[in-house]
Amino acid sequence: MEIIKIERKVLAKNDAIASEIRGKFEESGVFAINMVSSPGSGKTSLVEKVIENFSGRVNISVIEGDVQTDLDAQRVSAYNVPVVQIITNGGCHLEANLVNDSLKNLDLVQTDLLIIENVGNLVCPAGYDLGEDMKVVVISVTEGDDKPLKYPKMFINSKVLVINKIDLLPYVNCNIEQLKQNALKINPALKVFEVSCTSGEGVGKFCDFLQSSI
Ligand code: MG
Ligand code: ZN
Repeated sequence: MEIIKIERKVLAKNDAIASEIRGKFEESGVFAINMVSSPGSGKTSLVEKVIENFSGRVNISVIEGDVQTDLDAQRVSAYNVPVVQIITNGGCHLEANLVNDSLKNLDLVQTDLLIIENVGNLVCPAGYDLGEDMKVVVISVTEGDDKPLKYPKMFINSKVLVINKIDLLPYVNCNIEQLKQNALKINPALKVFEVSCTSGEGVGKFCDFLQSSI
């Protein structure tokens, strides 16, 4: 019982900071997405492909959340976009106060699209509002087709599902139609995109959708 109470208190505090962040985004005309997934689904590769696809047409800034290392921020900064790394030191999700602190290092007025890459984890990032306009859940076909059923909260709280690594479909035991069906059973309103960050297939459609949302 005590644990539940503490969790509620933490989440209430997080929500208050998240709405403060949302105010900052609105004021500066920032459209923010919170990218969530399990580790290794290809979030950073998708960030890279999105930046490549927009090639300067949209001003993008990136916040990289990782448990350890700034390897992902190094990858993204090679694309000449502003990027801030948050290292959680073991923390398994980003919280609004960490994002709020990192905003000091970004020019929000110069940002049209802010991509927040969350820590790889399909569980608790679902419960933490970071002030984003939408959560985008990324899943790779190598993870199988049952993940939406096993981690429903993440799919309920996301607006968009990006299915990555579709180039690997011939080699893995994943029925993509079943995967989509499972996801839509959990959240019928999910907008679904199928992409390969290796070949670039489908990334354009996802970017068109982002651009229409900005
Ligand atoms: Mg990453
Ligand atoms: Zn966590």
